[in-house]
Amino acid sequence: MDFKLLIDGKECAGRDDNWQEVLNPATGEVIGRVAHATQEDLDRALEAAALGFTQWSAVSNWERGSILKRGAELMRERVDDLARMLTLEMGKPLREAKAEVNRSADFIEWAGEQARRITDIAMQGRELGHRITIETHPAGVVAAFTPWNFPMAQAAKKFAGALGAGCSIICKAPEETPASVLGMAHALLDAGVPPAAIAVVYGVPADISSYLIPAPAVAKVTFTGSIPVGKLLAAQAGRAMKPVTMELGGHAPVIICKDTDPERLADYLVKGKYANAGQICMSPTRFFVEEEVYEPFVDRFIKKAAELRVGPGTDETTEMGPLLSERRLEAISDLVTDATKRGATLRLGGQRIGNKGSFYAPTVLTDIPPDARVLHEEPFGPIAAIQKFSDEEKMLTLANGLEFGLSSYVFTNDSERQRRLAQALKYGVVGVNDLPAHMPEIPLGGWKESGFGTEGGQSILEPFQKTRFVSYRG
Ligand code: NAD
Repeated sequence: MDFKLLIDGKECAGRDDNWQEVLNPATGEVIGRVAHATQEDLDRALEAAALGFTQWSAVSNWERGSILKRGAELMRERVDDLARMLTLEMGKPLREAKAEVNRSADFIEWAGEQARRITDIAMQGRELGHRITIETHPAGVVAAFTPWNFPMAQAAKKFAGALGAGCSIICKAPEETPASVLGMAHALLDAGVPPAAIAVVYGVPADISSYLIPAPAVAKVTFTGSIPVGKLLAAQAGRAMKPVTMELGGHAPVIICKDTDPERLADYLVKGKYANAGQICMSPTRFFVEEEVYEPFVDRFIKKAAELRVGPGTDETTEMGPLLSERRLEAISDLVTDATKRGATLRLGGQRIGNKGSFYAPTVLTDIPPDARVLHEEPFGPIAAIQKFSDEEKMLTLANGLEFGLSSYVFTNDSERQRRLAQALKYGVVGVNDLPAHMPEIPLGGWKESGFGTEGGQSILEPFQKTRFVSYRG
């Protein structure tokens, strides 16, 4: 399969005819190749997107809503094909891939509904005859950079907000998982978004971002990925005075208090921990378990994690698929080796499974020394780092002690403790007895270095809008 650039509604190879292999992470086999864009290709995408912005922003808010709703319906109609490609390129179980396609459609539909609610305000000035209007406008051409872990859903949030607001979008989609974004883009074009309003490009990520971000046509930059890359792109955007939205990494604390049922909770948290093979920015990663329930929790957690069926996503019985790539497998393996070398106890997993595909066993570490990298660096894989606590204040210092501020979780039935801990956690998401998923009606964004701005919610269009006031006298 050839995954080509999509520019002005047409698929094309890059000008240099340069391609990169796309692998199936479950087998390591080549499933196709993805085109690399040159600067000339990017210039064409920029020119088309400028025209696309003129065309799409001239479509009424109501009509944009209808077109996006139709796009969402087409995605749902195509869910089987889209999900099959998603599983093939990314590895996640087919069931999770289908849920991702449907969730992506929900974001598109939600943004279309919000487009119909865009409201300008007219007000009287301080004197009679002085009238002021406060207007909302689409920002312009959006440059979006999206990751491979939820290749459709992460891009859908950006397409939804940008297109809902009336912007055109150039998306640098992930080279490892190119099909999902293309599939979504085609559904939106088939629904009636003007061809020039959507471009999908691939290539050398740093080359593309450093060219697109300062390009005069680009008005807004949005990125989902790691903190180091986010800082780089935000700095580039800052130099060109362009607004950014950054959805970056996390290293979520999970606080398990002594009044909980440790076994029931372990069953629940194993499912959440190993979903998408742990490759989720909101994945629970740093477990703080109160000493009274530590042993039963850890024993049960290990038992249930060991029972998980790891296999190809296409197998209906699979509960956890492979990691994205050998590169990601090595990164996970390095973290585990570092922890055990420093004295951590490896209670489960800690090695790859088989010699075909990038499968890594569900892994549990305990007795982890404070300087182990896994306690400081986002694992982004199937590692649970479990620590025991007895002093709540000391535990909170550790829980809040990193530069991450994306998500955090508290499990207790004591309502006073729920309130106290929820307020004490310095995170953009706090789940109380819950590992919540991101739904379109929720604005989600990280605190501290985990990001800037939010995606979703009633304000889903705002990051892609600009406002002004017009003052009328006489
Ligand atoms: P990475 O930093 O190498 O890449 C992350 C993403 O950014 C990839 O999609 C990559 O193509 C892109 N990228 C890298 N350099 C870029 C550049 N100069 N310009 C534009 N795009 C660029 O990380 P990785 O090893 O692929 O993924 C693991 C890390 O990514 C994790 O630590 C996690 O924090 C982060 N991540 C976060 C999310 C999220 O939802 N916030 C999603 C995926 C990955």
